Amino acid sequence: MKASPAAQQELLRLQSLDTRLQQLAHRLRSLPQTAPLAELAARDTAVRGRRSEALGSLEDARAELARLESDVAVVEARSSRDSDRLQHTSSVKDVAALEAELTALAKRRSDLEDQELVVMERVETAEALVAGIEAEREQIAAETAELEAERAAAAAAIEVERQAVERDRAVIAQGVPEALLALYEQRRTRGGGVGASLLSQRTCSGCTMTLTGSDHETVRRAASDDVLFCPECDRILVRTDESGL
Ligand SMILES: [Zn+2]
Repeated sequence: MKASPAAQQELLRLQSLDTRLQQLAHRLRSLPQTAPLAELAARDTAVRGRRSEALGSLEDARAELARLESDVAVVEARSSRDSDRLQHTSSVKDVAALEAELTALAKRRSDLEDQELVVMERVETAEALVAGIEAEREQIAAETAELEAERAAAAAAIEVERQAVERDRAVIAQGVPEALLALYEQRRTRGGGVGASLLSQRTCSGCTMTLTGSDHETVRRAASDDVLFCPECDRILVRTDESGL
């Protein structure tokens, strides 16, 4: 292929912008906030698991406490009914039976109240655990929000730069003959993002191979508008005053 030396050299400008775009894309993918955000998300998942477990325990303890309270209420109602009957009976037999039952009810009530104390403590412990977990979640949410804002700002700054580079690239690409541009794009895809490399002091800047012997001779003898390729990496080899030919 033939292309004017000026058009060939434009490929180097295009290449430097394409390299810049690649760097920006890499920066966007590897923003410093990404890893800690993933870590926070994992922590949040774990905390949510512990939270539902703790809420389950709290619910169980509260239900048990409610059961005990209702048992106590039943015992209280029965005690007051028995006391009432005791005051209004004149039968010695009934008095003895009621007194025996009142003693048993008092014992039952005292047992239930002991159990209540134990369960109340379980409720308090579970409440404290849930509160601690909630605080942890809030902390994680706050850290996440802060990092997300930082990441969004960093991404926005990269996007502004990317758009500026894309605009410059479009202007330069317009000045490059279509066939040469297509060739550059083809070699760039094949060459891991680098399609054109400067020949500097007889060395290809794409693969760092130095031209020697017949390769050097071929390049030296080529017409200035011949489009050349690096014999090593096959990228478009662009000659300038610093090519050392
Ligand atoms: Zn090369």
